[in-house]
Amino acid sequence: MALPLLKAGVDMNAQRKTINTPVSISGIGLHSGIYTTVELKPAAPGSGITFARADLHGLRIPALQASTTALDYATTVGKDDVSVGTVEHLLSALMASGITDVDIDIDGPEVPIVDGSALPFMHLIDAAGVRDLGAEVPLLRLREPIEIVEGDKFIRMTPSNRLVLKYKIDFAHPAIGKQSYQFDYDQDNFLRKIAPARTFGFVRDVEKMRAAGLARGGSVENCIVLGDDDVMNGPLRFRDEFVRHKILDLLGDLALIGRPIAGEITASRAGHAMHSRFVAKVLAAASLADDDLGAAAPDERAFA
Ligand SMILES: [Zn+2]
Repeated sequence: MALPLLKAGVDMNAQRKTINTPVSISGIGLHSGIYTTVELKPAAPGSGITFARADLHGLRIPALQASTTALDYATTVGKDDVSVGTVEHLLSALMASGITDVDIDIDGPEVPIVDGSALPFMHLIDAAGVRDLGAEVPLLRLREPIEIVEGDKFIRMTPSNRLVLKYKIDFAHPAIGKQSYQFDYDQDNFLRKIAPARTFGFVRDVEKMRAAGLARGGSVENCIVLGDDDVMNGPLRFRDEFVRHKILDLLGDLALIGRPIAGEITASRAGHAMHSRFVAKVLAAASLADDDLGAAAPDERAFA
């Protein structure tokens, strides 16, 4: 597999990376129920992660915060009236693999859910191979902590040379309850401890979700299905598979920052919509910091 995303504490740039060779995967979309094929293709340094709707003249949608259009139960990116849904598990695998530049052709509106985890995408990236593009990208790092608090929910990022994700959840369901997990970024750690964690859904919500055009492709094959008091399609892959999946989702949503990051991020009882508001705040702070640097430059020249 590829080199680590971060060279902790030494080099605050990461290598830009792409895949070696095109690879594809097909399957049903969790929410649309539509069967699509996704093809990952090598991309030039600096081009970023970009979706292209192969069925709509290749309309390109950058995998960036500015492209997000819907955040109910999954993360959707779009442009004009065209979108690509449930991007977070694929983006999580790309982020974990340190891939900064890749073209993603898709012939329909939603990334296949496959088994509900990021493991099939990790295997796909592994099959493609990863290579350095011979260019660097500065890590996004904060000077000051940032947080958003919404009632009893919060997400906080504090400065660090490493990427650490911590998550806490509390569901009033006997199979979940309170769970917390800390993930110290490392690609192998991700592959073994986070990537296999599957998405989950509650039977009691299914009718309402289907009426809203959601969960139409959901089945016992592609998500953990929770009945009133138990898991209906066990066994679980981990006792705390639920909170591990939340970390998987968070990493995927952080990919919309558009560059690798270093920081310690703690999330409590959040979800895609809150992840997205947090990413927007981080990006606003980063652009402010860039402005600070820009404003300082003339003074430096004046005193040189
Ligand atoms: Zn998910």
